[in-house]
Amino acid sequence: MLLTITTTAPNATDLGYLLHKNPGSVFHRDLPFGAAWVFYPEASPERTTCALLVEVDPIGLVRRKGAIGMDQYVNDRPYVASSMLAVALARSFGSAMAGTAKEKTERLTERWPLEVTIPAVACHAGEGLIRRFFEPLGYEVETKGYPLDDRFAEWGAAAVYTVTLRGKQTIRTLLNHLYVLLPALDRGKHYYVGDDEVDKLVRKGDEWLADHPERHVIARRFLKNQASLAHKAISQLTVEQEETDAVLDAEERQLEAVIDPVVVAADDPNHPLSGNAAALQQPEEPADETDPAPRLHELRLNTVLAAIRDPCRAVRSLIDLGCGDGKFLRLAIRERQLQRIVGMDVSSRELDRCQGRLKFDRLPTLHRERISLIHGSLVYRDDRLAGFDAAVLIEVIEHLNLPRLAACERVVFEFARPRTVFVTTPNVEYNVVWETLPAGELRHRDHRFEWSRAEFRQWCQQISERFGYAFDTLDIGPPSPEHPSVGTASQMAIFTRNHQS
Ligand code: SAH
Repeated sequence: MLLTITTTAPNATDLGYLLHKNPGSVFHRDLPFGAAWVFYPEASPERTTCALLVEVDPIGLVRRKGAIGMDQYVNDRPYVASSMLAVALARSFGSAMAGTAKEKTERLTERWPLEVTIPAVACHAGEGLIRRFFEPLGYEVETKGYPLDDRFAEWGAAAVYTVTLRGKQTIRTLLNHLYVLLPALDRGKHYYVGDDEVDKLVRKGDEWLADHPERHVIARRFLKNQASLAHKAISQLTVEQEETDAVLDAEERQLEAVIDPVVVAADDPNHPLSGNAAALQQPEEPADETDPAPRLHELRLNTVLAAIRDPCRAVRSLIDLGCGDGKFLRLAIRERQLQRIVGMDVSSRELDRCQGRLKFDRLPTLHRERISLIHGSLVYRDDRLAGFDAAVLIEVIEHLNLPRLAACERVVFEFARPRTVFVTTPNVEYNVVWETLPAGELRHRDHRFEWSRAEFRQWCQQISERFGYAFDTLDIGPPSPEHPSVGTASQMAIFTRNHQS
């Protein structure tokens, strides 16, 4: 990993004083995960460049007890900028980050023209996030992406960029920006996130983070999506507690301000499924991630796609509710008859991933105008969800507890009211086929229920009666030869709005 800082400030070699590193020598320091070197590839009064080179020892890292996320010997960690580069920065330039100098102290507060180059910055969310993080701080951002493999263009782009930042900053501010923002861009993290990290964020973000428009995203990502820690950090940074409460508490609370919640009593005795509530609301035991074969999901997506292609349904616009990281959107965008495609999810993290997967930044304009992503929730009435020919909910309903499902039913079938709605959900009867799945357990730890074919049909029936839709159900996947009576792995319903309604 490499990072260079170049300045063309008058008497540029003074950079050595501010970084506490003499341009004439090479500095070396051992790190918990490897080693760092600081040296100056060029040092003249007109232009001076300081380089930080970090070598990571991947084997030592895996062997080191307690290392988190380093479960494999082969990964991209040693080569991309990440939290490790941030640690190396802090260890090599600690005094500079604290804003001290033994000599030339008068230069500490000068904002110098600086150029920082980092050849490999990991950012799965795409280069847009790099801009959103650095541009508000006054940097001009240049990024260069790479294909995953030059020989196979169809594999798409790597989530790694060469980043060049140009701007006028004090050295101290620059280092603190990098210390906070590099790990916040990167998904991986090699050390434990705890209260210590909150302190670091608060100290290094002092003076600039509280006013950053993306401060909540930065805090959450720096603290690796631990909302309560992020909350704590921001509330230490900002005086206005009210604001932090409104924005940070949870993703959904951000939405409440703009969207009307559909209020459904948690224990609505009139809800058609409330009788089944006890049976359906399984405890959230972490099922042992026995995810059914990934090919099943492809099959599901393709089954929905085929149904959408049916010319009788005349689907020209489509909304993918709970689009996740965009697996279905990626297929949908190739369907020429779809003039408008929108993906919606409650998780901004999934939306970030989705944006990366769809390579939004590089989509040809024609495609880009057809597709957009919105942050929303299925339990809030939302005008943005109306006006589509079709809505799809692929493996989403089982993630909602019953009160939320009841709200979602109204949001989709009463308010958004597309002509056609496609819903897929697991068929619980089929779980016996997966021998590794303990009896009675659900397929995924976030599933709140899984239905038998009869339960799913019963749900479809009451939806169709309450909201004026006709429905068909169909099986997804092949039946198991050993258990022919349990049906197939997944099931789909297609709802069609009645003519008069
Ligand atoms: N449809 C996608 C993802 C399925 S996983 C696919 O087939 O690949 C379920 C998704 O539903 C997750 O992305 C989750 O964030 C989303 N989700 C859960 N609750 C939601 C809610 N209340 N509103 C919108 N999306 C929700």
